[in-house]
Amino acid sequence: MSDPPMPARLADLRRRAVEIVGPAGVRSDPATRLLHSYDASMEHGLADLVVAPGDRDELCALVAAAYATGVPFVPRGAGTGYSGGALPARGGMVILTAGLDRILATDAEQGWIRCEPGVLLATVHRRAAEMGWRYVPDPSSYQVCTLGETSPRTPAARTPSAAARPPTTSGPST
Ligand SMILES: Cc1cc2nc3c(=O)[nH]c(=O)nc-3n(C[C@H](O)[C@H](O)[C@H](O)COP(=O)(O)OP(=O)(O)OC[C@H]3O[C@@H](n4cnc5c(N)ncnc54)[C@H](O)[C@@H]3O)c2cc1C
Repeated sequence: MSDPPMPARLADLRRRAVEIVGPAGVRSDPATRLLHSYDASMEHGLADLVVAPGDRDELCALVAAAYATGVPFVPRGAGTGYSGGALPARGGMVILTAGLDRILATDAEQGWIRCEPGVLLATVHRRAAEMGWRYVPDPSSYQVCTLGETSPRTPAARTPSAAARPPTTSGPST
């Protein structure tokens, strides 16, 4: 049996997303779709759904729902990327991580910080410095961009550990 057409899959995903995050967290009005179809690159896509999870479990459930329905999805932090990575190039669901912005636990001795993905990078820098450590990724957008995007590309942050270097007195480079 062939897969249902995309509009049917989108409707299914939308229904599941509403169940997961509630109706207020699921938007598909034209302005919201357009707003989340750009980043700092010159590219754009067009989101079908823009969904804001409230916690990790909701985020995981949304990813599972996208997989189950066969609808593409992309996570979006602050949308400051220059390479179009947060764009819904094939439509589908944009998952907003910016609302997941809590620091969950820290260990100054071991040098790690466990955060939700939407925490501002500046917040991580500050907390690491308070602990006598330094979180290495320091794009000049650090005051507005999120942790989530930097962690996969940083060996020091592949684990929940966020602090990566011995104490330093310097702040993030700009
Ligand atoms: C003024 C300005 C200055 C900048 N300076 C620098 C710089 O000095 N160095 C540099 O490297 N970059 C720089 N950038 C690019 C950009 O700011 C950084 O790459 C930043 O880390 C992107 O964070 P974001 O939260 O905006 O990510 P987004 O643009 O929202 O997402 C970027 C990518 O990460 C993915 N993503 C987002 N959250 C997650 C998650 N939780 N898990 C997995 N994937 C995720 C997205 O799907 C997308 O592919 C700059 C951008 C601007 C606008």
